[in-house]
Amino acid sequence: MADSNNIAENIRQIQQKISDCCTQYGRSASAVRLLAVSKTKSAELIRQAYAAGQKDFGESYLQEAVGKIHALEELDISWHFIGAIQSNKTRDIAQYFDWVHSVDRLKIARRLNEQRPAEQPPLNICLQVNISNESSKAGAAPEQLASLADKISQLSNIRLRGLMAIPIKADSLQQQRSIFRQMQQALNTLNTHGHQLDTLSMGMSNDMEAAIAEGSTMVRIGTAIFGARDPKPA
Ligand SMILES: *Cc1c(COP(=O)(O)O)cnc(C)c1O
Repeated sequence: MADSNNIAENIRQIQQKISDCCTQYGRSASAVRLLAVSKTKSAELIRQAYAAGQKDFGESYLQEAVGKIHALEELDISWHFIGAIQSNKTRDIAQYFDWVHSVDRLKIARRLNEQRPAEQPPLNICLQVNISNESSKAGAAPEQLASLADKISQLSNIRLRGLMAIPIKADSLQQQRSIFRQMQQALNTLNTHGHQLDTLSMGMSNDMEAAIAEGSTMVRIGTAIFGARDPKPA
C-alpha cells in the first residue's frame, strides 16, 4: 500500500511504472497522462502532489471538490470530474471543471453544454461506457455510443474527447486486457465514422498495465498515490 506520507515519491514511482509499461508495449511515454484521483484527500495533500509536478486531479464528490478547487485557486491545476452525475449537479460541474469523464447520457451532456460559462473554453467530455455490461453500473451501453457521440459532438460548449470505463475486476492481465481492448475498438469505430477522439480514460491502481497495453491515454490513479481512501464525505 502506498505511503501517504511520501506523495512525491509515490508519484515518481507511478510515473516510472507508466514509462516502463509504455516501453514494454511499444508506446510513447508522453502518450499516457497521469490523473491523480484525490477524492476524499485534503487540499494539503493535493498541494504536495502539485509541488511534485502533478497537474491533473480527479474528483468524484462535487461539494468536497468545489471546496478544494476554491482553496487551491492559485495553482494551475486541471480538474477532472469522474463521479456519478445527477442532473442537479451539472451547473457546478460545468463551471468548476476542465474535464468530465463520466457522461453517460444525452440529457447530462445537454445540460453541461447549456451551463458551461461562455467565457470558458469548451468542457472536455468522455463518454463513460458500461463495458462489462453490469446491470448496476453507470455508463452507456456499447451499442448506444455511436448515436450518443453523433449528438454530443453537435454541442458547441463541450468537446467530446473520448471514452472512459471502470471494468469489473478481472483476475489476470489477459482478462483485463481483453476488456480494455474492447474500449480501444469502440474508440476506433467512432473515429472510423468521422469522430476525432483522442482519449481513452482507463486504468486504475490495479489494472494500469493492462490499460496501457491496450491504448489508454489517461490512467486514473488514487490509492497508489495517496494511500487508502478516507471515508466518503457525508
Ligand atoms: C476512485 C477512482 C479511481 C482511483 O482508483 P484507485 O484504485 O484508487 O487507483 C479511478 N477512477 C474512478 C472513476 C474512481 O472513482
